[in-house]
Amino acid sequence: MIMIVFLANNIANQLYKMEQRLVESLDKLHAAEVEKQKYIMGVVHEIKSPLTAVHSYLDVVLEDFLGPINDKIRERLMRTRSRSEEAIQMINDVLKISKLRLLDEISFDEVKIGEIITSIIRKNSAAISSKQISLKFEDRRDDRLPLKGDPVLLELAFSNLIGNAVKYVGHNGKVSVILETIPKGVQVEICDNGIGIPPKDLDKIFKDFYRASNIKQSGYEGSGLGLSIVKQIIERHGGNVKVESPSKFGSEDKPGSSFIISLPVEEIA
Ligand code: ADP
Repeated sequence: MIMIVFLANNIANQLYKMEQRLVESLDKLHAAEVEKQKYIMGVVHEIKSPLTAVHSYLDVVLEDFLGPINDKIRERLMRTRSRSEEAIQMINDVLKISKLRLLDEISFDEVKIGEIITSIIRKNSAAISSKQISLKFEDRRDDRLPLKGDPVLLELAFSNLIGNAVKYVGHNGKVSVILETIPKGVQVEICDNGIGIPPKDLDKIFKDFYRASNIKQSGYEGSGLGLSIVKQIIERHGGNVKVESPSKFGSEDKPGSSFIISLPVEEIA
């Protein structure tokens, strides 16, 4: 009996020590992650200043403040400006992710999700009409209970998802956004009949900088950061994101993708 008590004590002691070591390692890992995010924010910030300056100089030239320029030069400079805009957008995305990871900055206000989606669609209207996309938004909710969340972050998440659908769908493509009630929450489904996502990439596309294998040679520009931000934002709101490809609109040459987001309506965090 004494032997058993002695052994049990010994095991409990060992387990306690192991647990302590684990806690210490986790603390060290967290501290290392914080340092890493701070470093990334610092470097990325440094890169942003000269890029923003280049962008402004291009604006000065394009607005003819330095004298008239011919159409050929204008066309090249416009392309340069659009690439520099993309780079600045990418930097802003990296800064947002780092901030989110570092400071866990999030507010929980009343969010009108239907209005956010309508405004994002409006902001994409130039691309929608130039590609002659048929985009349909259906609000099928039984009630309009407001969500609790961070309107800026939720707008960022849905803007990435709707922007991607518009980007990766072809000319005359089809995009649908359906908002509906689910038990204890709402669901948003964003569905397109674009290039789709190969099965082997489906479980990786939410990782930082990951772009699917069918994108790389297709000429679509992007950073591969959008979906990683989307996942973080939605999970921080207590929701989740799923992806399916082919989508319900898919055909053999245009498999399409479907992103399904669910968000709780009750107060969280
Ligand atoms: P990107 O800047 O490359 O669009 P994202 O993080 O937003 O980065 O998306 C990651 C990858 O997921 C994309 O590069 C693309 O391969 C794939 N993807 C995302 N949305 C779609 C979509 N609607 N249709 C097809 N592929 C998509």
